[in-house]
Amino acid sequence: MTFRLTDDQRELRDEIRRFVASELTPVASTLDHSHTYPRGVLDALADRGVTGLTVDEAYGGRGEGHVELAVVVEELSAGMMSVGAALALHLGVASVVERFGSDALRGDVLPSMARFDTVGALALTEANAGSDKAAMETRAVREGSEWVVSGHKQWVTNVREADVALLYAKTGPEAAAPENVSAFLVPTEDLTVDHDWAAIGGNSVPTARVEFADLRVPDDRMVGEQGMALVERGRLHGGVNLPARAVGIARAALDAAVDYADEREQFDQPIGEFQGVQWRLATMAGRVDAARLLTLRAADAADRGDPDAGAQTSMAKVHATEAAVENASDAMDVHGGVGFTSEYPVERYFRDAKLLTVAGGPNDVHRNTVADAVRSVPTE
Ligand SMILES: Cc1cc2nc3c(=O)[nH]c(=O)nc-3n(C[C@H](O)[C@H](O)[C@H](O)COP(=O)(O)OP(=O)(O)OC[C@H]3O[C@@H](n4cnc5c(N)ncnc54)[C@H](O)[C@@H]3O)c2cc1C
Repeated sequence: MTFRLTDDQRELRDEIRRFVASELTPVASTLDHSHTYPRGVLDALADRGVTGLTVDEAYGGRGEGHVELAVVVEELSAGMMSVGAALALHLGVASVVERFGSDALRGDVLPSMARFDTVGALALTEANAGSDKAAMETRAVREGSEWVVSGHKQWVTNVREADVALLYAKTGPEAAAPENVSAFLVPTEDLTVDHDWAAIGGNSVPTARVEFADLRVPDDRMVGEQGMALVERGRLHGGVNLPARAVGIARAALDAAVDYADEREQFDQPIGEFQGVQWRLATMAGRVDAARLLTLRAADAADRGDPDAGAQTSMAKVHATEAAVENASDAMDVHGGVGFTSEYPVERYFRDAKLLTVAGGPNDVHRNTVADAVRSVPTE
């Protein structure tokens, strides 16, 4: 059994790690505290082909799989979770288009998405359809060669900077659920932002509520089979980016705690000499490794088409995101009073980590998936 990344995967990890050290870490706190979109960082990633990481080479991408996605998102999120999030959300939209979209739509959109000239956002959740996506109220009604779409979407991360949104709407009767939802690729300029959320984390890539009435969408902008969008979405495993983001934060928190424990002296010795601090660091290190192993196992399962990939992704999501919260909290404690200030990055790790236990579906809902798997309850 192999527990090592391949040479190519290690090379990719090292490439992104060097990029983060030189281009992202130095500006992360400033971007976060000023709520500034990391445009320069994302454009630099586009120059390196990273914004097309999982897009097929035929469309100008790098054609990588879920393991490479997890590796890259961990590295970026160790520098700044918002950047890992922006990349993952964008690639998540591209992967739905690539897997389920028509040849014409793929050819039209994917090369531009790979270059990051067209940036994608996800418009799935609604006020009354959070964990229960099938409860969505947005509707699309066919008129000739167009669909007329009305409703709202809540939590559309990056919608102000994105060019297109993958928007889900009911196109069939309730009796047909879950085969009554379709996905459409719509220009974000057709969506009206009616609320910007004052979230406590993910500051640089914020999230908003949007509304739209009688939005006319050409039939050829439907992504996938009519009515099958939620079912098709369930077959993708891009959600492995959530635990990968968490591994990045958990690792950054550990590194910050180790550095501070070395430099801070109390009672005439570095605080890292206290056994209590050492045990805390040891526990944090164990959380990082366990979270990464679960994440890479899930990513590898997704790449192999293993039917357990969904449950493994949920297990990784729960473990890694809670590990990130615990590590960020421990890192703040190791920093003492300054850990509670914005002069050190550990408070940002805590705020960003806390988002991940809810984003991508609350951990309790992912626990349901794991429980169904261990109890052998069919999911479809
Ligand atoms: C900052 C941020 C960014 C986001 N970005 C996006 C985005 O880009 N696009 C998008 O479409 N969505 C996005 N989301 C939405 C996110 O996916 C939802 O918030 C999430 O799915 C949960 O929905 P909810 O917030 O309505 O919580 P609810 O569904 O109301 O759940 C609240 C709590 O109820 C419990 N619960 C609910 N259902 C169950 C169940 N079946 N079993 C056990 N417990 C349960 C859980 O404890 C859960 O934490 C974002 C959310 C946030 C906060």
